[in-house]
Amino acid sequence: MYDIIIVGAGTAGLSAAIYSLRAGKSVLVLEQQPSYGGQIVNASKVENYPGIPEISGFEFAKSLYEQAVGLGAEVIFQKVIRIEEQAPNKVVCTEKDSWECKSIILATGAKKRPLGVPGEETFAGKGVSYCATCDGMFFRGKEVAVAGGGNTALEDANFLANYCSKVTVIHRRDTFRGDKKSLMRLQAKQNVTFLLDSEVVELLGENMLSGIKVRNKKNGKVTEVPVSGLFIAVGQMPDSEVFSDQVETDQLGYIVANEDCKTNKEGIFVAGDCRTKTVRQLTTAASDGAIAGIAACEWCDGK
Ligand code: NAP
Repeated sequence: MYDIIIVGAGTAGLSAAIYSLRAGKSVLVLEQQPSYGGQIVNASKVENYPGIPEISGFEFAKSLYEQAVGLGAEVIFQKVIRIEEQAPNKVVCTEKDSWECKSIILATGAKKRPLGVPGEETFAGKGVSYCATCDGMFFRGKEVAVAGGGNTALEDANFLANYCSKVTVIHRRDTFRGDKKSLMRLQAKQNVTFLLDSEVVELLGENMLSGIKVRNKKNGKVTEVPVSGLFIAVGQMPDSEVFSDQVETDQLGYIVANEDCKTNKEGIFVAGDCRTKTVRQLTTAASDGAIAGIAACEWCDGK
């Protein structure tokens, strides 16, 4: 029996754990991945977290995890498959175990959105990657492309340009969603080219990816770009399917809650990228964690 069970050991979940533990609550964190940290682990560099001018995503996550565990968080690496009401408590179930608690915080984050083009599944792991920091080294000295125009795409391209002979950034519009500073850094690199107003329409190759077909959206012209790697960074989808019949979600699957992080179910809170909101950043994930943690503590205390 725990006061609070947190689902997800990313920035939001671990921040919620820190606030809940400091309020004297017992906390179990359940994480479906074999390790903690969530998406930030794959960021080569974080430069916009207030008070920390520069840190690697891995170092940031490690520090957060150690802080939560140091305060007494128990962390178990199992995937939650169900939540049950057992009034006045709740039960959180994985394939193997179940635990009772007074309150739940859902902090399952988001996962990478696929591009949805022919060949994407065939070449996944054979040239197609969704994580530049994980796989970039396999493409040292080779020509690669990055699809997307957000911060992930810009940071991936910046990272890859340090190792690859050429990086082509393919974006469906002519203006970028990502930060101007990252874009300017990228534009200054000699081995980076841009295909704007363009979309990847097909992936080519025998056993391994050898090229991509890119269509210019303005003139309809399709060109073949020879690449060994395609890094797909076209946004995210919430990782919340398991809970869609337990709490209200929007049409995209994000769990509905305002800034108070309260779902439509009493005693169940939501924090981080899986919540309906407009800004999904490390800072807002940590902020959600604090708000949901405090709200869950108040719920446990019957306030
Ligand atoms: P994002 O900001 O949603 O950007 C996704 C990009 O992919 C957009 O440029 C979008 O184009 C494009 N796109 C979406 N669907 C597409 C499709 N089917 N075909 C081609 N292009 C497509 O996603 P993100 O870059 O993964 O970032 C997610 C969140 O994390 C954002 O809030 C971002 O700021 C944050 N983030 C922050 C940092 C940082 O602060 N250091 C680093 C990484 C991510 P349009 O622009 O035309 O919609």
